[in-house]
Amino acid sequence: MAEYSAFSLLRNALSGNRDWQPAWRKADPKPSYDVVIVGGGGHGLSTAYYLAREFGVRNVAVIEKGWLGSGNIGRNTTIVRSNYLLPDSIRFYDHSVKMWENLSHELNYNVMFSQRGILNLAHSPGQADDYIRRGNAMRHGGGDGVWLTPAEIARFAPGVDVSPKARFPVVGGLLQPRAGTARHDAVAWGYARGADRLGVDIIENCELTGFIRDGDTITGVRTTRGDISAKKVGVAVAGSTGRVMKLAGIDRLPIESHVLQAFVSESLKPLVGGVVTFGGGHLYMSQSDKGGLVFGGDIDGYNSYAQRGNLPVVEDVMSEMVAMFPAVARLRLLRSWGGVMDMSMDGSPIITKGPLPGMYLNCGWCYGGFKATPASGFAFAHTIARDAPHAINAAYTLDRFERGYIIDEKGQGATPKLH
Ligand SMILES: Cc1cc2nc3c(=O)[nH]c(=O)nc-3n(C[C@H](O)[C@H](O)[C@H](O)COP(=O)(O)OP(=O)(O)OC[C@H]3O[C@@H](n4cnc5c(N)ncnc54)[C@H](O)[C@@H]3O)c2cc1C
Repeated sequence: MAEYSAFSLLRNALSGNRDWQPAWRKADPKPSYDVVIVGGGGHGLSTAYYLAREFGVRNVAVIEKGWLGSGNIGRNTTIVRSNYLLPDSIRFYDHSVKMWENLSHELNYNVMFSQRGILNLAHSPGQADDYIRRGNAMRHGGGDGVWLTPAEIARFAPGVDVSPKARFPVVGGLLQPRAGTARHDAVAWGYARGADRLGVDIIENCELTGFIRDGDTITGVRTTRGDISAKKVGVAVAGSTGRVMKLAGIDRLPIESHVLQAFVSESLKPLVGGVVTFGGGHLYMSQSDKGGLVFGGDIDGYNSYAQRGNLPVVEDVMSEMVAMFPAVARLRLLRSWGGVMDMSMDGSPIITKGPLPGMYLNCGWCYGGFKATPASGFAFAHTIARDAPHAINAAYTLDRFERGYIIDEKGQGATPKLH
């Protein structure tokens, strides 16, 4: 498969763009593989890519029930950041940001990673103390936290209402300059192409319907395209984790599935350069290269597997948006959609061997698994190939909930809506 380059663009332009090859093969399932990954989202595809590239495991299949990009990887608001407080989170997410910085180059695929910064607005002295403490922890962990005054915020994000008369006056904000956004579906396509080039079979329209077992040990998968045996099976199905794990007889997990909605407005001239989050509620927004405002808020407050949400959250998100950016009150909304989130009970992910022999589990991404896509794939591939976690995911076990070693960034407890 040809490299993408300025030269290949020119060559294909001159031949009327008729000679481009598909970015990955439409593979049919083979009877057996060393590793089968269930779920062709960002995490499943990046796992397959790093298994082949970093660990030399190339007899790998990714099975996806729909088409690549149909899950959360193609539905998120594309924020990439590592502005965390706890050492386990800083280590993992900072590693991920570093991987993002070279990702387009490594994959030979433009994922449009744009380090435009993320600014968390603070609206009370208590919240400011909390954010400054987090910024300090980020710096201790080798990261980049910077405190901005309201005047500096007005320069970074001119649309934010920083006047003392604002409904939620802004007292300052925590900026992470290295954070940013990327093009979400390009990440899925880039990893798919990269994995395919290394020999991985990517099998779309292939739904897992059950597991093949030898006693407790998982020895393969049953799918809508036949049985496939596998030495190891990795599960990376995000919001479908509960349903898929139930097929293996695992009834209870510290995960709830909820809908999260996202919104895009009509295009505007540049209003805000980076990502801005509102501290008076839960809202995050950025402006796409096409000019639309891309934003989201809380999960819908009930469990669901539907990829669509309900109006109370829409109303909530819009009112927060107008509180933060009064100038957009008459802007029209272009589109909205929903994705099914795998909300863990401490807000942190699970990347682990088990819970059954022959099985490996990757889930619990809550609102924030897109930014983790490179590090999650690398760490999960390490865990599968070596049967042991990498240092960056050693804390993300399933049994931490039993042992009381939860990684609860905000100290919110087992309340998915608050993570
Ligand atoms: C609206 C919204 C906004 C978000 N914003 C951000 C953000 O700004 N930043 C951020 O970091 N994160 C964000 N996220 C979260 C992020 O998108 C997810 O945490 C991450 O994409 C999950 O991992 P994934 O890409 O592997 O999931 P998915 O893309 O959902 O992949 C899982 C795949 O498994 C497949 N599958 C399920 N069951 C089966 C089966 N039985 N057999 C075969 N395949 C199966 C599904 O079809 C799906 O394609 C957001 C999510 C949503 C919905």
